[in-house]
Amino acid sequence: MKDPNKKYIAILGSTGSIGTQALEVIRANTGRFVVEVLTAENNASLLIEQAVEFRPNVVVIGNELLYPQVKSALEPLYIKVYCGAKALASVVEMEDIDIVLTALVGYAGLIPTINAIKAGKHIALANKETLVVAGDIVTSLARKHNVAILPVDSEHSAIFQCLPGETMNPIEKIILTASGGPFRGKSRAELEHVTKQQALKHPNWSMGSKITIDSASLMNKGLEVIEAKWLFGLKAEQIEVIVHPQSIIHSMVQFEDGSIKAQMGLPDMKLPIQYAFGFPERLKASYPRFDFAKYPSLTFEEPDMKTFHNLALAYEALRKGGNMPCILNAANEIAVEKFLNDQIAFLEMPEMIAECMAKVPYIAIPSLEDYIETDTITRKKAQAFSQPKIK
Ligand code: NDP
Ligand code: MG
Repeated sequence: MKDPNKKYIAILGSTGSIGTQALEVIRANTGRFVVEVLTAENNASLLIEQAVEFRPNVVVIGNELLYPQVKSALEPLYIKVYCGAKALASVVEMEDIDIVLTALVGYAGLIPTINAIKAGKHIALANKETLVVAGDIVTSLARKHNVAILPVDSEHSAIFQCLPGETMNPIEKIILTASGGPFRGKSRAELEHVTKQQALKHPNWSMGSKITIDSASLMNKGLEVIEAKWLFGLKAEQIEVIVHPQSIIHSMVQFEDGSIKAQMGLPDMKLPIQYAFGFPERLKASYPRFDFAKYPSLTFEEPDMKTFHNLALAYEALRKGGNMPCILNAANEIAVEKFLNDQIAFLEMPEMIAECMAKVPYIAIPSLEDYIETDTITRKKAQAFSQPKIK
């Protein structure tokens, strides 16, 4: 029997950076949340360990080869075990689930999120790629099914936290803060030969490898600009980016009287995760508190979009609309994969994305099928990206 005083949560991508921190939040609030579903792609041993601790109703392992291992470990505990992308896409429809946390990485988040919305589940959205790829379809479905999309991304959570009490007051603009990543202040010449080891060293956040590379290239901020458009119904001109290396102000909203509200705190993803799970309540937490005296200077600077061209490409995709952000996202996923496999250089990532944006057919008002096809075509085009040029 379902306990009406608890929220039942499905965590898609429970073995990742956001997934494991979400489980920490749940561990610290045992009376409030029940883990209903856990999923992972390859990390069977951590998935099993998590399931033994949290006793979900169901687990899904994406990689079908690992199914026997997970099944034999968990079936004696009466935990149902499924495998593959189809199971992941349908498990979100289970009756008891209240909130689906989309903590899986990349385009793989799209179909499970759409299915969850159609089944009336609230979405705690970490997987920004879903809104980048098909923000129009996802947000209109959420309105139709009366489902909340609760942002987990720290910048969007910050804006979301600035909005209660302001329903009568239009937003003039939002200001997304960016740490600037490990290569802040570097020139193109200096970026020519940076390695993946250098790119993977983020100054303020410990995250999965894809988003860490996106942070180093400023594509993460570009994806967040597009994510913000859909979450808060804004135009490109209303979304500004400012580099703030200390990552204390998580983002800001400026209203029509010129007043700015900011949400602040130490950089810790458990806070936005917990806010999404507890919403509209703020749950007590004992995470370390921010101390102004220890941060005598909070600094701000313009992002360098010429050197970090990905951010300019994301604004361009947002302005063009249609399937352009979907092209940007698919090309970027392949670019990051190739960079992590030492197949292309850091500065070749934006080149590859720009090439795909120029060559993949543009569709002004895409259907879901168009988005799926755009993703497939772009990946092929990106895979065939003209191999290292003679320099
Ligand atoms: P990680 O790489 O740490 O974790 C990804 C999770 O998704 C893992 O559980 C992984 O399983 C699973 N997964 C990977 N590929 C697939 C797939 N094809 N199908 C299904 N599941 C898959 O990522 P993060 O936790 O860093 O990021 C998750 C999402 O949250 C991203 O969209 C990111 O942009 C967003 N986000 C993350 C932040 C952070 O601080 N980390 C901050 C803001 C947003 P396995 O472990 O088995 O491979
Ligand atoms: Mg963010």
